[in-house]
Amino acid sequence: MKRAWENNIRKVVPYVPGEQPSGNRLVKLNTNENPYPPAPGVKKALSEMDADAFRKYPDPSAYMLTDALARRYHVGADQVFVGVGSDDVIGMAFLTFFNSKKPVLFPDVTYSFYPVWAQLFGIPYQMPKLDCDFRIRKEDYQGENGGVIFPNPNAPTGIAMGLEEIEEIICDNQDVVVIIDEAYVDFGAQSAVPLVSKYENLLVVQTFSKSRSMAGMRIGYGIGHPDLIRALNDVKYSYNSYTMNMPSIILGTEALKDDPYFYQTLEKIKKTREETKIWMRELGFSFPDSQANFLLATHKTVKAEMIFEALKQEQIYVRYFKSPRLDNSLRITIGTDEEMAVLRRFLETYLNIKSHTDRFC
Ligand code: PMP
Repeated sequence: MKRAWENNIRKVVPYVPGEQPSGNRLVKLNTNENPYPPAPGVKKALSEMDADAFRKYPDPSAYMLTDALARRYHVGADQVFVGVGSDDVIGMAFLTFFNSKKPVLFPDVTYSFYPVWAQLFGIPYQMPKLDCDFRIRKEDYQGENGGVIFPNPNAPTGIAMGLEEIEEIICDNQDVVVIIDEAYVDFGAQSAVPLVSKYENLLVVQTFSKSRSMAGMRIGYGIGHPDLIRALNDVKYSYNSYTMNMPSIILGTEALKDDPYFYQTLEKIKKTREETKIWMRELGFSFPDSQANFLLATHKTVKAEMIFEALKQEQIYVRYFKSPRLDNSLRITIGTDEEMAVLRRFLETYLNIKSHTDRFC
């Protein structure tokens, strides 16, 4: 029998994050983490951290980090909002900006957290379909709506949209807030940050989780017009003032100091990605031309779910989404060259054996 208090419980279908298996022999290519360590200065600053400082609350405005980001992106400190990963920033942005009875628009194949936030906050939404090549159709974002959000590059396709097309979408939607989620932008897409000075209704969101190798620190940020940032802060201070912890503020600021390391790491990942595209194609996989740190790969004969299970047996973790349009694809994060070689060796053997056994069955 249902207990009376259960009627008062908010019913939600939660977002399902990728597995975080433990063990040091596994190859983890399932949550788009960066395979390289954070900038060396981060490790040094961590070792010099004084635990006694943790007695006090952190600066609620996280000014040190906000100011460092403002300098990095040539905007005012009043144009930057920081949060506990970009999930926190985007969640806060849904709550702050998507407050209309008209539906918020995001693609049918995209970051699967968007519909979860919309449902949690009771925001109506529509999911225009990507075209058959998995591209966003800008015409789908021209009608009346309560706001627009999409990632660039999109996830999990990895397809990047050019800045002119992005600007067209922003231009067509100046009565609502448009959010460009740039979680993967550093791996090969053009950032919309320069458009922030032109469009007051644009919020660009980025993260330290991917290109800066700091997923565990949980640092995300939004860049936009000071009025947007003020509105975000009003909601944040009405919910939880001290979102960013002290180590994240200090270590995030430190990471921003090392551009050479940042670009060098990005180049390594991009090179590995392009090499991976070549050998995966030779093995019979196809995929959209990803500009992110992952590939969404489909094999011409073997079902994605079977490959996923076989990889898992070998302690090689990739992401499989059992959802419409994605259930015959695997999202594979680009790891180190060594990790990709382990994946390659296994797939070569597995697909070879598979094609032989299938022939004799
Ligand atoms: N946006 C997209 C498109 C993502 O894939 C992710 C990672 N799951 C995020 C935002 C959130 O990342 P984080 O909270 O680690 O910044």
